[in-house]
Amino acid sequence: MSFKGEHILSVKQFDRDKIQQVFDIARSMEPYARRQKRTKVLDGAILGNLFFEPSTRTRVSFGCAFNLLGGEVRETTGMQSSALSKGESLFDTARVISSYSDVIAMRHPQAGSVAEFAEGSRVPVLNGGDGANEHPTQALLDLFTIEKELASSQQQMDGMHIAMIGDLKFGRTVHSLSKLLALYKNIQFTLIAPNELAMPDEIVSLIENAGHKVRITDVLEGNLNADIVYQTRIQEERFPSQDEANKYRGKFRLNQEIYTRHCKSNTVIMHPLPRDSRLEANELDNDLNLNPNLAIFRQADNGVLVRMALFALTLGVENLVSNYECEVPWYSNKGQS
Ligand code: ASP
Repeated sequence: MSFKGEHILSVKQFDRDKIQQVFDIARSMEPYARRQKRTKVLDGAILGNLFFEPSTRTRVSFGCAFNLLGGEVRETTGMQSSALSKGESLFDTARVISSYSDVIAMRHPQAGSVAEFAEGSRVPVLNGGDGANEHPTQALLDLFTIEKELASSQQQMDGMHIAMIGDLKFGRTVHSLSKLLALYKNIQFTLIAPNELAMPDEIVSLIENAGHKVRITDVLEGNLNADIVYQTRIQEERFPSQDEANKYRGKFRLNQEIYTRHCKSNTVIMHPLPRDSRLEANELDNDLNLNPNLAIFRQADNGVLVRMALFALTLGVENLVSNYECEVPWYSNKGQS
């Protein structure tokens, strides 16, 4: 199965074999991400990193992943500083930037915009999030994290129980992750959201039609007895007003006391980040930071591995990485973490 030259726009492009192929390559990237070795396999290649919506982790981890493979990154951030604010079409921007780059990562606030952009691009385009629609690279790193975390307690994805909490309507990460999980077997989904922010019907149907069990509720307590608890942020930027978003911020808070009372002793806690740590929201309390089952930072670290794998695959160098190895001459303690 080849990814070479392909766009990565939606999780719908993946089946279980393709996912495992990405994960195998992602695992092989660990020594480079940990600075035990370097590779220059993408020496001379350029990533166009175009982020027209706020981002820290996704943007920087795309950039770092490319740098770790030896490539260079050219970046633009924000709509106002781009020619899109002068009325340029996505097609025109794509034509131009793709002639400057070998691959493009892009985030944009409008659903479907990255696919539209890809039509004008002469190089592979990776979707870094298009509005409330999809976030395929996040879903792959989430799944990679779930597989790894469950494996550490001899569990597997088939047959697991996941509770998704928060803004399941506008949260693109839970949309993409649910579609990927639907490819596995006998999963119990507990979807915890205010009625107004429930998971879209088409995604619930897709999961149910794939044979999984779905429980929908707007109550947190009593519904957290899962293998994975995936908390999310209220996506305030997608609400008509801040007042509207504020109605839901802080509604579902997870802290150590709730964890101890309602979760299993090994329930893994995930969150795509950023967690909203302001007092009125505080959906994932800092008092969980010492809980060994809090996987949020391991999850973010995994993002670099998965994005390195996707660049290697779409540029067709996945089997050449070790041929271009060299030493790491500087001090680093990343190998120990
Ligand atoms: N960083 C994730 C996203 O871009 C989640 C979030 O923003 O809440 O969708």
